[in-house]
Amino acid sequence: MDSATGRTGTKPSTDYEIIVVGGGVAGCFAAATAADAGAEVLQIERKSAENAGHIACGDAMKSPTDSKRYPGPIDMVAIAGNDDILVDENIDQIEWWDEEIGVRKVLPYDSGSNVIDRYEFGQALLRQTADLGVEQRFATVVNDVLQDDQVEGVRAVRDGETSTTSPPTPRPVSRNRTTSSSAPRTGRCY
Ligand SMILES: Cc1cc2nc3c(=O)[nH]c(=O)nc-3n(C[C@H](O)[C@H](O)[C@H](O)COP(=O)(O)OP(=O)(O)OC[C@H]3O[C@@H](n4cnc5c(N)ncnc54)[C@H](O)[C@@H]3O)c2cc1C
Repeated sequence: MDSATGRTGTKPSTDYEIIVVGGGVAGCFAAATAADAGAEVLQIERKSAENAGHIACGDAMKSPTDSKRYPGPIDMVAIAGNDDILVDENIDQIEWWDEEIGVRKVLPYDSGSNVIDRYEFGQALLRQTADLGVEQRFATVVNDVLQDDQVEGVRAVRDGETSTTSPPTPRPVSRNRTTSSSAPRTGRCY
């Protein structure tokens, strides 16, 4: 029973091999890469499905089609080829302007950077990640990591409602774990 809410515990909905917290660039690349390698992956994002992808950003992206910069299964060529995402292919100057002190500087810039629509980019990353087989949960905030020598799962709140939680079924855990257990290493989302 959760002492804060008085609700009784729920069972974990599913076991996963990998749980990725966050639906930003790092989370999508990690989740997509793991799923592409065959893992059962859950990705958790605190924003709603509609709002995910919005983030404070200068909207600049360097060399999006350079596969060395963006390794893995995310198709950056498709992303760069989408006019809704890549809106300007050539940043050629940087402007620094401080109205308060009345200083404005314009500096030349020649480094292969592009202007993107950050929201469309974020949404495209999430779509590709889902297409690679990652299960996604939005409007879900992870507020605890359950661990006992190894990470067992996460505890999260969904749609503003506290998920009722109970500890995972205890498994024998070696205090001196130097070799891997025969049990599969899975993460649970409660
Ligand atoms: C003002 C500003 C301007 C920037 N401009 C640029 C730029 O022009 N070009 C550039 O390349 N980079 C820019 N950056 C840097 C860039 O935004 C970051 O490097 C990038 O967002 C990092 O990606 P990330 O996936 O690690 O984290 P994030 O993009 O922050 O993604 C983290 C995700 O995790 C989710 N999350 C967080 N906590 C939880 C939780 N407990 N449970 C569930 N979900 C959670 C968040 O909602 C978010 O969607 C800028 C950064 C700032 C602050």
